Formats: sequence, C-alpha cells, structure tokens
Amino acid sequence: MKKTVSILKFVLSGFVLVGLATTTTFAFMGQGGFFGQKSRVGYGIETAATNIPAQELSQAEKEALMKMVEEEKLARDVYAFLYGQWGNVIFDRISQSEQRHMDAVSALISKYGLENPVEGLEAGQFVTPSMQDLYENLTSRGAKSLEQALQVGATVEDLDIKDLKELMGQCDNQDMLMVFQNLERGSRNHMRAFTSYLRVMGGSYSAQFLSQDEVDGIISKGWERGPVDQNGKIMNGFGRGLGMRTCPCLK
Ligand code: ZN
Ligand code: ZN
Repeated sequence: MKKTVSILKFVLSGFVLVGLATTTTFAFMGQGGFFGQKSRVGYGIETAATNIPAQELSQAEKEALMKMVEEEKLARDVYAFLYGQWGNVIFDRISQSEQRHMDAVSALISKYGLENPVEGLEAGQFVTPSMQDLYENLTSRGAKSLEQALQVGATVEDLDIKDLKELMGQCDNQDMLMVFQNLERGSRNHMRAFTSYLRVMGGSYSAQFLSQDEVDGIISKGWERGPVDQNGKIMNGFGRGLGMRTCPCLK
C-alpha cells in the first residue's frame, strides 16, 4: 500500500507524464486501480437495453439514434487517430470505450429495425457533412501537440454531454434513456481523464458547449464506475469510485 502511494506521487509528479508521455505510465496506473477486471459496461448496457421492451419510436427518437451513433463514431475515430499520432494509451483506451458506446446505440438501431447510417464506413468517414468537417478540424488540431490533442478530447466529450442531455429531453423510450444515461456517464469520466492529464501538463480546459460551471462541476467529482439506470441512478452493487486513482475507462 505504502509502495503504491509513493509510486502514485511519483506518477502524479508530472515528470513521468510529461517526460515520457506514455503508454507505460497510463498502463501502469491502470493496474493500480480499484476495479481490477476489464470494464465491459458497454456490453452490459447493450444487453440490458435489448431486454427493456421496445416502445413506439417517435421521429425525434429516431433522429436521436442516428445522430448519436455517428457522434460516438466521431469520438472513436478521432481518438484512434490521436493514438496513432501520439502513441498515448489514454486515446487507445477511450477509443475502445467509444466503440462500446457505438455498439450500444447500434444495438438499439437494429432493435427498432432501422438502417444503421455508419455501417460499413471506414474510420474517419461520416455521412453527415458537419460531422465530416468536425472530424477534419479536430484531427488537424489534435495533430499539433499532445496538449492540443487532450484539448480535442475534452471538446469531444463536452459536445457529447451537451447533445446527450438535449436528446434525452426529447426521448421517453426507456431503452434509449438507459443507453444515453450510460453514454453520458462514460463521457463524464472521459472528460475527467482528459482534463486531469491536461492539468498535469499545466493546461486547463475552457467549456465550448456546456457552460463552464457544468464542466467544472463534472471535473470536480470523482470517477464513476458501473452502469446507471434510465434515470441516471447508479445500479445496485456499484458505487462511486471513491478512492479510485484512475479512470475506470483507462483499464
Ligand atoms: Zn461516448
Ligand atoms: Zn467519450
């Protein structure tokens, strides 16, 4: 235990993060966490969402599914690009988490018998022109420096949280609400992961989509672990990751 604490101090000193900037550091931090097993939250949510009875799908709900599957793809592809650029495992882990988010939305799309707009698309390809533009802008910005790449990460999560909140206000299907609540919970953790790394590098994030108060409110709270229900309440048997040293999303 003592050893872990001193190693943690060393890790958080920033020297390691900035100096080596790296895969090993984050992979190493990942092992010291509270939550040993690989998180399969996305998979669990997908299953639960499939088990909640389908309800009639309004036009707004249909559009929300179309929008979110593309936005989760945007996050996945931008982080995969940034991982290729910087080799830092934070982007790889969070990109994998976005893949699970995409899978959960895709499960709803097939449950409702809709055509999946992103099926068969290559990485970095989008059907909606504004998403394509966003991908180009975010990747060219993130290619400039690791700090800019982390800023891009926080920006994508900021956008995701804002859109999820808005879309949930237009949906009443319980399966969709459950998936979206879990996507938002994941995004809050990702926002914490990117901004805490930024902080270690001496940077900070200014809100682009949510208000600064909302962003600060998210960042000031600890990691959240385990799935939430359709009302955003933590499910039985899980709890806030108090004492966890690193994001469950980095496992
Ligand atoms: Zn996501
Ligand atoms: Zn995310």
